[in-house]
Amino acid sequence: MSSLISLVVPVFNEAVSIRRNLAIILAAVDDESDIELIAVDDGSTDATSLELARAARDDPRIRPLYFTRNFGKEAAIHAGLVASKGACAIVLDADLQHPPALIPEMLRHWRSGFAVVECVKVDRGDESWLARVYAQSFYWMFRHFAGMDLRNHSDYKLLDRAVVELYHALPERRRFFRGLIHWAGYPTARIPFEVAERELGASRWSRLRLLRYAIDNLTSFSSLPLHLITALGFMTLALGVLIGFNSLYQKFMGVALDGFTTVNLLLIIIGGSLMIALGIIGHYLGRLYDEIKGRPPYLLKPPPREDA
Ligand code: UDP
Ligand code: MG
Repeated sequence: MSSLISLVVPVFNEAVSIRRNLAIILAAVDDESDIELIAVDDGSTDATSLELARAARDDPRIRPLYFTRNFGKEAAIHAGLVASKGACAIVLDADLQHPPALIPEMLRHWRSGFAVVECVKVDRGDESWLARVYAQSFYWMFRHFAGMDLRNHSDYKLLDRAVVELYHALPERRRFFRGLIHWAGYPTARIPFEVAERELGASRWSRLRLLRYAIDNLTSFSSLPLHLITALGFMTLALGVLIGFNSLYQKFMGVALDGFTTVNLLLIIIGGSLMIALGIIGHYLGRLYDEIKGRPPYLLKPPPREDA
């Protein structure tokens, strides 16, 4: 059996730090004789692809892949895993927020028989109050709607070859890496870790992007109107509650026409709820539509030319 270990690193607009960071990541696995580092350039708009091509020229362990455009971190992880050939694959961020120093410990757990080793955040690092609320509501919903407790989970994971193969084989296109690995249910070891500060640049995720990711791990453009219906429903409902209270008030003050209050309340509340229901159904329809279209989750392009 091969002893090759694959590292999978999604990279988006990290040109200033990528070479240094890849060197630090590789230094953490210096003891291992057989390493490949698959760096997936997720359609960066800065010089990341050039930097990766240079890094690969200088260090044959580095194998870059280049997306034609930004397909998102999930797609980058997916592509990296598909390209990996190792007996195990370790997925980690390019910004060193996932401390590479943990890799030897992950490998020890794997060698002792765990198919999955996941690094779990003990704190969420330097995050804003709002970001925490976002994350907490997302995990709350995940726990209650999907029955999966993913609190403080991260994408920093080691997967045995068998799990990587399973990941290839899944027919789903739009993926939620953390959720799917948890769902797969392989024997899992957990390592707590503190999220390091990002040294250079800011998070590549905007609030809105995180929200969309949370609602549906990347929502396609075509189902957006369906989400708007849901939003409209909530707004109608909120308005309905306000008007409803007003109607009730008028009723008790004796200034309302008979029956008018009830009609008002019913119309508005039922209308609002119907909109929400339609929106939710529409959302699933949108997901279904995306899967049916069967477009590939990412597209690769050739390496950049030095003179380009
Ligand atoms: N990333 C990516 N595609 C994107 C956004 C981010 O491949 O569209 C990569 C990014 O380069 C980094 C990792 O995903 O290696 C995590 O991104 P980031 O540090 O911006 O997220 P955060 O640490 O805030 O979760
Ligand atoms: Mg980061």
